Amino acid sequence: MISFHQVNKHYGNFHVLKNIDLHINQGEVVVVIGPSGSGKSTMVRCINRLETVTSGELLVDGVKVNDKNTDINKLRRNIGMVFQHFNLYPHKTVLENITLAPIKVLGVSQKEAEETALYYLEKVGIPDKVDKFPTQLSGGQQQRVAIARGLAMRPKIMLFDEPTSALDPETIGEVLDVMKKLAKEGMTMVVVTHEMGFAREVADRIVFMDQGRILEEATPKEFFENP
Ligand code: ADP
Ligand code: ADP
Repeated sequence: MISFHQVNKHYGNFHVLKNIDLHINQGEVVVVIGPSGSGKSTMVRCINRLETVTSGELLVDGVKVNDKNTDINKLRRNIGMVFQHFNLYPHKTVLENITLAPIKVLGVSQKEAEETALYYLEKVGIPDKVDKFPTQLSGGQQQRVAIARGLAMRPKIMLFDEPTSALDPETIGEVLDVMKKLAKEGMTMVVVTHEMGFAREVADRIVFMDQGRILEEATPKEFFENP
């Protein structure tokens, strides 16, 4: 589903990704860990071309991400992304936040978009917040709206970049539970996180990065039990 072949990326003179080889299958949950500044976020953002790679090849669902003929909007439709800061529209309700892209980008009817939004709000456990504004919600609730918004595009892949790092400790669990549920349902997921409990329990594979390189790829069992 996602294939990095010898991918490098530079920011000017700074070599941020070094010969990345990574192959992620459909339905796999890959958790990316490593020190701050090691390139985790950059690597994940290359997948939906929020960042462009400098060399090497990156394939997502058979599409060459960095080919100039690739339709980026089409690529991104298949990839939901959840950020550390929820990036919700503050002046739109929860319902509007979730229905906007399906109506604009997928061209579905208002009615269908609203039904879909409610379906995913149920899934993330906050159907009662449908008419609230983001500022009326806790961080954990806002992040669950962000996840519902991603899912409403019916993506094949969900990317999570430190989805719980900005949350109060007491709301982290509710977001991780939603992610756990998605993983069980077979969503292909790439998750940058410092939540080792989640990594141990949910990941099919753990990728450890340091200074722009993948230093280790292992199952949670291998990773946590072999020092
Ligand atoms: P991580 O997610 O592991 O914390 P990042 O991918 O965010 O790492 O960043 C890796 C390195 O690249 C950091 O040193 C960061 O400062 C640098 N970096 C990230 N984005 C940019 C940018 N747009 N321009 C220059 N340097 C950047
Ligand atoms: P977050 O922790 O929310 O991912 P970051 O602080 O890593 O946020 O980065 C926020 C934005 O700043 C990103 O778009 C990243 O690419 C950019 N950025 C990070 N480090 C640098 C840097 N050294 N120079 C320029 N841009 C950077």
